[in-house]
Amino acid sequence: MPHDLLIIGAGPAGLTAALYAARGGLDTVVLEMGVPGGQAGLTDRIENYPGFPEGISGMELAMKFAEQAGRFGARIETTTVQGVDLAGEIKKVYTGSGEFTARAVIIASGAHPRPLGVPGEEEFRGRGVSYCATCDGAFFRDKKVAVVGGGDSAVEEALFLTRFASTVTIIHRRDTLRATKVLQERARDNPKINFSWNTVVTKVKGKEKVESVELKDVISGVTGEEAFDGVFIFIGTEPNTGFLKGALALDDLGYIVTRENLATSIPGVFAAGDVRAKDFRQVSTAVGDGAVAAMAAERYLSGL
Ligand code: NAP
Repeated sequence: MPHDLLIIGAGPAGLTAALYAARGGLDTVVLEMGVPGGQAGLTDRIENYPGFPEGISGMELAMKFAEQAGRFGARIETTTVQGVDLAGEIKKVYTGSGEFTARAVIIASGAHPRPLGVPGEEEFRGRGVSYCATCDGAFFRDKKVAVVGGGDSAVEEALFLTRFASTVTIIHRRDTLRATKVLQERARDNPKINFSWNTVVTKVKGKEKVESVELKDVISGVTGEEAFDGVFIFIGTEPNTGFLKGALALDDLGYIVTRENLATSIPGVFAAGDVRAKDFRQVSTAVGDGAVAAMAAERYLSGL
């Protein structure tokens, strides 16, 4: 028997969709390859999700989301989605633990950190190159680290890294940060943080692990090298849409294009959260997406 609804991804968008759908009486299964929470689950402290005036750890918030969805009967299956067949009335999702079917699908598979694409980055991944400060920061106690990027992620993670590292250098390709004002001010006020403006990393170097990076001043063209024990890269994200293999309309960057009510190009298939093409990617906007997609799916399933 097909389920009413399959939700791909148990981040804030998927878990909110699960809560709404299950509470609305739909037989709902969430497919998640790792632990619930998505990228938000890896965030040390979330300060801009309403209801938690002191902030809350990303993992704790994710657990609360999962608990609330579970209370209404949504089930989370730990498995990796490998492919989909979404065209028919019964949607098929192929996973590492077999085929799942449903009458509607919400894709909330999120995004992952974008790699810089310079020599040495891949070679030293896990040996000094990291994309997650909360996961790897503690390995850099009293070490000198570089953070690449100028958005919210780069600045937030740089601030987190000051708990461990002796110095944190934010290397940004422009002379103005993209990050929100409050984060910019905190970074400027933190004595452990310094900035390399108008600078890009052109190579990551080392023997067993990262020892230095090659840098280029984008204005003067002057190149140089600086010693670092770790390089944390936060230059934006890429969508987790590889498993769709052309099944749905995507934008140029691979994000799912949605219409009103988060419908995709295929009837009965909706997208929510960071995986869809949109301007603002926050926990609160993902949660809003999840609610909208679930209500739209409910409406679709009742033939309205
Ligand atoms: P982002 O906002 O897209 O910022 C990416 C940064 O990396 C930009 O400063 C960009 O430079 C730089 N960059 C991009 N490509 C580069 C390259 N090839 N070489 C060097 N630098 C490069 O990405 P993000 O910081 O990961 O954030 C993603 C989304 O999540 C955003 O919507 C963000 O607001 C949200 N987020 C929110 C919070 C929060 O609210 N606390 C925390 C984390 C993330 P330019 O500035 O020159 O473009």
